[in-house]
Amino acid sequence: MKVVIVGGGIGGLAAYHALHTYLPSNVSIKVYELYQTPNTATSGIGGGIGIVPNGLRALNAISPASVLYLWAHGNVCPYFVVRNQNGTTLGRLGGLHDRILLPRASVHESLLLGMANGVTEWGRKVVEVKETADAAQVVFEDGTVETCDLIIGADGVKSICRQALFGKDAYQAQYDGLTGVGGFAPFSSLTPALQNGIKADQAAMTFSRNGFFGYALSLPLSTPVSEQQVMFWSTYATDTPPSRDLPSEEIRAILMEKHDSWKSPFAGAFRQIIDAAYRPTITDSRFTKWLVLPRYEISPLPYWSSLHGTVLGPAKGAARIILVGDAAHAAAPDSGQGASMAFEDAQMLGLLLRHYLPDSDPLPKVAKAYEDMRIPRVGRILRIGRRQAEGKREISWFKAAVRDLVLWIMCHLPLRVMLWLNPTHLYDVEKEVAKYLAAVAR
Ligand SMILES: Cc1cc2nc3c(=O)[nH]c(=O)nc-3n(C[C@H](O)[C@H](O)[C@H](O)COP(=O)(O)OP(=O)(O)OC[C@H]3O[C@@H](n4cnc5c(N)ncnc54)[C@H](O)[C@@H]3O)c2cc1C
Repeated sequence: MKVVIVGGGIGGLAAYHALHTYLPSNVSIKVYELYQTPNTATSGIGGGIGIVPNGLRALNAISPASVLYLWAHGNVCPYFVVRNQNGTTLGRLGGLHDRILLPRASVHESLLLGMANGVTEWGRKVVEVKETADAAQVVFEDGTVETCDLIIGADGVKSICRQALFGKDAYQAQYDGLTGVGGFAPFSSLTPALQNGIKADQAAMTFSRNGFFGYALSLPLSTPVSEQQVMFWSTYATDTPPSRDLPSEEIRAILMEKHDSWKSPFAGAFRQIIDAAYRPTITDSRFTKWLVLPRYEISPLPYWSSLHGTVLGPAKGAARIILVGDAAHAAAPDSGQGASMAFEDAQMLGLLLRHYLPDSDPLPKVAKAYEDMRIPRVGRILRIGRRQAEGKREISWFKAAVRDLVLWIMCHLPLRVMLWLNPTHLYDVEKEVAKYLAAVAR
């Protein structure tokens, strides 16, 4: 069997690890990525990210070396301190399992570990994918075509693979009215009082009536003060999406206008972090970039594979195109689950391929099982994320008070009750697949 993975981002590389882990060595796997080199990919990514417990569980199953790398390169922190704009601490959220906060580039670096030479071809832009009666085809920008048995579409929010299923105009990414700005501040530039505060918090989220500001240490706690970085991200409502290339002075001005008046237990916390964030003298490109990210999401897709046909037909397909990651379920980042969902997708696809591959015509069974399990799971998480996004828009004082009360209650509920209300972090792909396959076999 020959598998082509379109896109070598978080989802594509995770899919490679899953297939490599679960499938026999005679299955050929190839990854095609738009970025010219691994270095341009990691330096172009920027910003900070959090990998949550369910994502770490899935990643550990398909690439334990990647998880060890994340542990060694990030801030392992089980909770977030939650505050409001008056500087009142509402409590701590989380706490049972570890999550890791770290530069996005480190996540990509972790996934590049253990990739055999030549598996990924860099600088290859895919312009079209097709399913024919007995094969799938990937068309590249230079006109070359590769034929394979299965295409895994891991090409992100503006997916070409998704277009093969639904057409160019359907399920376009839409601006959701919120813009995120993120960056890194050198820890050593902050006052000792703020350094101590951030060390005590490790990670904090502040909600206001007109936006959100989060910060966290982004390197292991053992990192010397001179090298430690604070990752931060701000979210605010704006009708039109700003340019992603805004000059840094303008970004600074926008952030100051939003956050300078917010209170914190640590004097001038927001101003200090914003001021320290852009330092042209830092040569490590992972930390110099400010990210301006108008947020785009796509409406939930009714299906994630060509089992249901492609726009070019036939109406009932052979499921030779299957989507993972943001290509299947791009959503605003409020759930903090985007990368973790991609890890779960990858692990599940790997397990299902392993199970069904010995059957005749395995791909339709793989696609059906994958969609049966993934679509409801991801749908629930996207709904939670959307609710969380509402708290970051401009809201009335009354709504802000209700939000603060809900956050306070969430922070003070016993962990058992919280996990019962929202068991997202407990999800174990292997157990879910075993349960599903047992039910189908009955
Ligand atoms: C501001 C922000 C903050 C976030 N914070 C978090 C967080 O804290 N936790 C979390 O879990 N998630 C977070 N996410 C979401 C997370 O980053 C994504 O869900 C995750 O990166 C999805 O991985 P992916 O591989 O599906 O897509 P991508 O990472 O977008 O990768 C797609 C890859 O495909 C390549 N590609 C695209 N088109 C083509 C083509 N035609 N040919 C060849 N290659 C192509 C791209 O170059 C890219 O490398 C955040 C997202 C944003 C925007």
